Amino acid sequence: MKESYDVVVVGGGPAGSMAALESSKAGLKVCLLEKTSKIGSKVRCGEAMSVNALKYFFEVQNRWVSKEISHCNINSPSGVKLTTEFKDDKCLILDRRKFDYDLSLMAENKGCEIFTSVIAKKLIIENNYVKGVVVDKNGEDFHIKANLVIAADGIESRLGRKAGIKTQVKMKDMASGIEYFLDDIDIDSDALDMYVGSEVAPGGYLWIFPKSNNSANIGLAISGKYSPHKSAEKYLNEFIEKRFSKTKIKKKLTGGIPVTRPIEKPIKNGLILVGDAARHINPLTGGGIASAMKAGMYAGKVSSSIIDDPSEVRMSPYIKFINDDFIKRHKILYNIKEAVSKLSDSDFDRIAMSVSKIPKDKLTLAKIFKSAVYKKPSLVFDVVRVLTGY
Ligand code: FAD
Repeated sequence: MKESYDVVVVGGGPAGSMAALESSKAGLKVCLLEKTSKIGSKVRCGEAMSVNALKYFFEVQNRWVSKEISHCNINSPSGVKLTTEFKDDKCLILDRRKFDYDLSLMAENKGCEIFTSVIAKKLIIENNYVKGVVVDKNGEDFHIKANLVIAADGIESRLGRKAGIKTQVKMKDMASGIEYFLDDIDIDSDALDMYVGSEVAPGGYLWIFPKSNNSANIGLAISGKYSPHKSAEKYLNEFIEKRFSKTKIKKKLTGGIPVTRPIEKPIKNGLILVGDAARHINPLTGGGIASAMKAGMYAGKVSSSIIDDPSEVRMSPYIKFINDDFIKRHKILYNIKEAVSKLSDSDFDRIAMSVSKIPKDKLTLAKIFKSAVYKKPSLVFDVVRVLTGY
């Protein structure tokens, strides 16, 4: 590990590896720091990503894909099932252990130096500019100077706050997530199976995302408003007990999901926040892989042109890129999430009953969400805009 680089990227998730890849491609001296011992080993994710979202970056590689998914089932509290086919854009369940690792290899192949089991503890700040990080390396402090620090340190990000960026998330907008991996189970293995309602996942949803014909990531996220009363784990255990009582849980993971508005200004002189660290997550679905990759990619792309003076003002192309690409859309999706989270179980059932009358081949997610915001008709137009990719 050297004492100085052009760019230090903190965090080896999709956001960090994309940032490291792009700034390395631009010829900068880059290092990526990851606190776990192997990139991809501690991923917390349902692993769902759309094919088109992945193709935006790379050709899909078979080793990244656990399962291709053709349709989506949304199950209402009383058990009405709405099925929509993914027509133009299919969905994949990734193997993020391999995917995240391969992304970091791509960055390494372009010259990025990667260090694992290294924790970034503090920022070095001089004359109102972030000038590097202090890391814990085998119990010792080590100072790494850099012109630019890209913080891709995920949901638990400390670096943004240390630089004075407001990173707090309201309790109601911090979903509490839990997921088990189960195998040898009977599932609709071509479907994203989702369940809504106060009994199953208040203020959120439960998912069964198939990893193979008989195994799945089964998880749920509930709004932080409800988790103090009954934990996400309890909700999930109850569902598992009812549906898969004879099956042993193979793997368990927990994690927060910031289903909030993105941070308004995720930059400081010498510092750019990307991915979950900047709350770049789709607040309606909780999906964040694609936007984390986009933010990382854009931050990496602008790095070479600002490296001699990485002031906030010169970072405006990064802000413009993410705003045009997904931030505006996420703000609209946040409003839709707010409307959906106010629906009662009987609202969900009424909507499901009315939507279920639409012929199967005409039913789309846009139609379902248009019905779901019926209490706030002004949002119907927004639903159409975001779900048809305005
Ligand atoms: P991360 O992937 O979290 O990477 C951050 C990295 O930084 C980690 O490797 C961490 O170890 C490292 N790090 C943190 N602090 C430090 C430090 N101080 N020093 C060094 N390294 C550090 N999204 C989807 O698109 N589809 C899904 O199906 C989906 N399901 C989810 C299910 C659950 C239960 C949860 C919790 C999230 C889910 N998400 C899903 C969200 C998705 O996982 C994240 O949005 C995505 O991983 C964000 O990528 P990132 O690179 O910003 O952060």
